[in-house]
Amino acid sequence: MAKARVALVRCDSYDPGAVGAAVERAFRLLGGVECLLPRESTCLVKPNLLSPSRPELAITTHPEVVKAVVIEVKKVARKVAVGDSPGRGDTLGAAEASGVAQACRDAGVEVVPFDEGSDFRLLEGRLCKEFFLARPVLEADAVVSVAKMKTHGFMGYTGAVKNLFGCIPGTRKAKYHLRYQGREEFGIMLTDLLLAVRPAVSVLDAVIAMDGDGPSHGRPRPFGAILASRDPVALDSVALRLAGVDPAGIPYLKAAAERGAGAMYERDVEVVGDEPGSFVIKDFRMPTGNRHRSLLRLGGILKSSITAKPVVDTEKCTGCAVCQRSCPPQVISVVRKKAVIDDSRCIRCYCCHEMCPSGAIRLRMGMAARALDRFIDCLARK
Ligand code: SF4
Ligand code: SF4
Repeated sequence: MAKARVALVRCDSYDPGAVGAAVERAFRLLGGVECLLPRESTCLVKPNLLSPSRPELAITTHPEVVKAVVIEVKKVARKVAVGDSPGRGDTLGAAEASGVAQACRDAGVEVVPFDEGSDFRLLEGRLCKEFFLARPVLEADAVVSVAKMKTHGFMGYTGAVKNLFGCIPGTRKAKYHLRYQGREEFGIMLTDLLLAVRPAVSVLDAVIAMDGDGPSHGRPRPFGAILASRDPVALDSVALRLAGVDPAGIPYLKAAAERGAGAMYERDVEVVGDEPGSFVIKDFRMPTGNRHRSLLRLGGILKSSITAKPVVDTEKCTGCAVCQRSCPPQVISVVRKKAVIDDSRCIRCYCCHEMCPSGAIRLRMGMAARALDRFIDCLARK
């Protein structure tokens, strides 16, 4: 079987010329945009517009990367649009705040909202056989995923594959969190979604990635790379290995590899372009919500002492109720202008942490996870 090819290109800044050259080279390493996308087609470029956030916060795909991809796609497509469904706010607001709207104006393409959509049946779906997808996704001949490399409290990591969750309009995403509450089952659902959307090509903005408590409150982390591939699973796996993270620990990558929906193992992937050894990062921090989750295999009884729980910092909380609106099981109330979480009904999806605009929700590790951390620290000091 042919190996999945991943283009890895050095890009140390968001200087427009440097980003344009890196994206163009990445596409060329994959055979050129003419081979990647159907000629005269309608293409949807799907960045990560998680929330209305400034580009320097590294929450959203950088506008220069979106623009460079659009310029490439326009070489072959008849019509190009850019869109996403943010977790907070609306598409146009998030696009303006992140600089993506201006990038699209500069490139002469439209930002399209993801408010409307319809059901898409997926017979091969393992857990989910029907997705409600945004209309621009359904109408496009080809989807180009332009993701941001970030950590993710619930899934551990978000990149090219997880970016596709934004193809589901607005608050409808909550339904999937409610239906697939465990990490493994949510991962299988994301693999189903990957098969439903099937991006023609995926690009990863890892010029400045995010580590720590991503996807919204982590640390912008210079990584210096732009990656591209036809196979988003291979793409994410390569990026994670460079960060020193085992991709098999990310549920949706493991699920995708197990069912042949993408290549995760090193033996199945060919990296072309710049030397991987020059990108390796040794101190990439994984999120609190993901620490020691593998111990959950030992049994449900340990769940509350292992999984991190969301805790409201009342000093920072402004009572805006964004978390209340984004909590899938509706277990948050706002009392006297402060958020209050009913922990007994919390499903640990961390949507509240992700969406709080004030950084007022932190994730506190469970007792067993904290003890294990101290033990590991102790061993490391000896
Ligand atoms: S915790 Fe955050 S999102 Fe929730 S009410 Fe307070 S400031 Fe708003
Ligand atoms: S309180 Fe936060 S972590 Fe718990 S279910 Fe609601 S959104 Fe998810």
